[in-house]
Amino acid sequence: MPAFRTLLFLCAIIFCCSTCKEDIPAFEGKTKRVIIILVDGPRWSETWGDSLRQYIPYRTLMAQQGVLLTNFRNEGYTYTNAGHTAIINGGHWPINNSGQELPPVPGLFQYYRKTFSAPADKVWLVASKDKLHVLADCQDPAWQGRYAPSMDVGNNGAGTGYRHDSITHARALDVLRTHHPDLMMISYREPDYTGHTNNWTNYLAQVRITDQYVWQIWQAIQNDPYYAGNTAIFVTNDHGRHLDGVSSGFGGHGDSCEGCRKIELLAIGPDFKTGVELNTFGDQRDLCRTSAYLLGMPMPTAQGKVMNVLFK
Ligand SMILES: [Zn+2]
Ligand SMILES: [Zn+2]
Repeated sequence: MPAFRTLLFLCAIIFCCSTCKEDIPAFEGKTKRVIIILVDGPRWSETWGDSLRQYIPYRTLMAQQGVLLTNFRNEGYTYTNAGHTAIINGGHWPINNSGQELPPVPGLFQYYRKTFSAPADKVWLVASKDKLHVLADCQDPAWQGRYAPSMDVGNNGAGTGYRHDSITHARALDVLRTHHPDLMMISYREPDYTGHTNNWTNYLAQVRITDQYVWQIWQAIQNDPYYAGNTAIFVTNDHGRHLDGVSSGFGGHGDSCEGCRKIELLAIGPDFKTGVELNTFGDQRDLCRTSAYLLGMPMPTAQGKVMNVLFK
């Protein structure tokens, strides 16, 4: 009898280990691919918070095809590398903002390549700010230096400085066309870069220009049979900017004021609701978790919850 009990016990362990890897059911939808478009540092009051939405006419059109979350937030550190790692790696860490520090845990890119044995050219990071190279790797010794995405950042990679968004935009379109990545982040440096110059007119101009870029990426995806009908697109930000009256106002960011925390999330895809605005709370880590879920991969080191509210 003890032998029989031992056998039962072993069976129970094997059953549990094979079914309880993660507490999330497998995704069964049409989404196969995820593209995250990041617009760096616009303030909510100049995007969706403006009653006329006059600076983002293209995203306003796109919203008819998707879900706008009006209570999406950076609940961690409101600067570039921390905001990006919250989305890609799924946690809030006070990570160095000059590209000198890798995230502590692997991100979406590394998990995707490992989980699906995907070649590097199916996973891409295209960014204007070279310091975002840190998103391609992490400090975990089991992962460091492995499963990196293809990367096109800054003028010529890490340590070469920021490049103009027009170059990033052209590269992103080219990568979509020639490599057809199944997971991609496109990160524009504007309107953050110009916002820091404290020139209101030029800052608003960059809000508009990045809006056009987002639209053109969306058009390219919709018009490509590789992506049409199976791709989730997220438009989001790493952080906002100070409210008027807080520190330098729109010229800066980095604290916990409402202007810095409140960011956008527009989700468009075959499994999402269409034409709705929801005031449900969401955090950047939830975007990470939701992306992993859509791609059908476990991501045990990511915090956050699947944003079920987005789904049809
Ligand atoms: Zn900034
Ligand atoms: Zn602030």
